[in-house]
Amino acid sequence: MVWAQIEDGRASYLCTCGGIGGGESADLRSWLGTSSSCCHARGMQASCAELANAAGLADDVALLTAHAVLDNASVAPQAECDVSFATTTAKKKAVFAVRFQ
Ligand SMILES: [Zn+2]
Repeated sequence: MVWAQIEDGRASYLCTCGGIGGGESADLRSWLGTSSSCCHARGMQASCAELANAAGLADDVALLTAHAVLDNASVAPQAECDVSFATTTAKKKAVFAVRFQ
């Protein structure tokens, strides 16, 4: 799961995959104000930059500020979550959606 947030006026992009090598902590990266090193975080950053450009905003910080729902740091934590994700099986090597609560 990847998300964006503004800390100290800078945008960072974090992912739960553990980054390159799988050893990163998203919490530590968040505390340091640095983005995760994986392609998911870079993809989210590129998407936000492109959205900001399309909306005529100066940068991703302006986008996240103008649309606070995109800024994970601006919303209160949820007590519950409902996540759908994809996984694979060893037998069929297929991808299918799994609902996780
Ligand atoms: Zn990732």
